[in-house]
Amino acid sequence: MIVDCHTHWGAEWQERDGLEPTRWLREFDRHGVTHAIVLPHLGLIDAGNIPSDNDAVATVCAKSKGRMLPFCTVNIWQPETALSELSRCLVQLNFQGIKFHPWLQGCSVSDPIMDQVADVAGTAGVPVFFHDGTPPFSLPSQMALLAKRHPKTQIVLGHTGLFEHWRESIAAIQSAPNVWGCMCSPHLAALKAILQGSDLSRLIWGSDQGWTSNDFIDYRLSLMDCLGLTNQQHQAIFSENPRRLLGI
Ligand SMILES: [Zn+2]
Repeated sequence: MIVDCHTHWGAEWQERDGLEPTRWLREFDRHGVTHAIVLPHLGLIDAGNIPSDNDAVATVCAKSKGRMLPFCTVNIWQPETALSELSRCLVQLNFQGIKFHPWLQGCSVSDPIMDQVADVAGTAGVPVFFHDGTPPFSLPSQMALLAKRHPKTQIVLGHTGLFEHWRESIAAIQSAPNVWGCMCSPHLAALKAILQGSDLSRLIWGSDQGWTSNDFIDYRLSLMDCLGLTNQQHQAIFSENPRRLLGI
């Protein structure tokens, strides 16, 4: 089993394939990826698209026989609307997590509505997944503080700090037992340091497949190959940890 914990039902995929995941799943089969967390894309770049994009993600994932695990987003600029959309997604549409891209969505991880969302997520038992590594709104340390305020909520650093904040992501993972690191996007030397400096039981892997039409799975699986993972590390990162995080 390989779980890709960072993919998007991207604008280019929606434009070409509508809500049909056949080509998407064929790409995953080609790389031996069995399951994927599927994040929104259109809803992250335009708040007006949030409900329709959540519906699109739910619909396409429902056609995947359980292989595509949907995550929703909400507009935290409108707290009441955000909480009602969150309820619709988690209760009616069975979303399995929540995604924020604070940089694109123009919101701070420190906004009070994030605490309300984190509470809802903790009660529902679903993780909150963040784009991280982009100041001023998307830093691992900001997410670690949210995690400390909500110890029952699992908080995922979607990029383990990207290219410039990966050291901070290691510190964030060390600082709270409910912070997880998705090894997606840092360079090879950073990935090595993250592997060495983090609790193995909270590391997962992701490709960012779907954000564009490029094959990110091939590139980011190849980077992981270069780490020379032991069988235990491979099992933990690609299978055991995501299964525990997602309850699958
Ligand atoms: Zn992404």
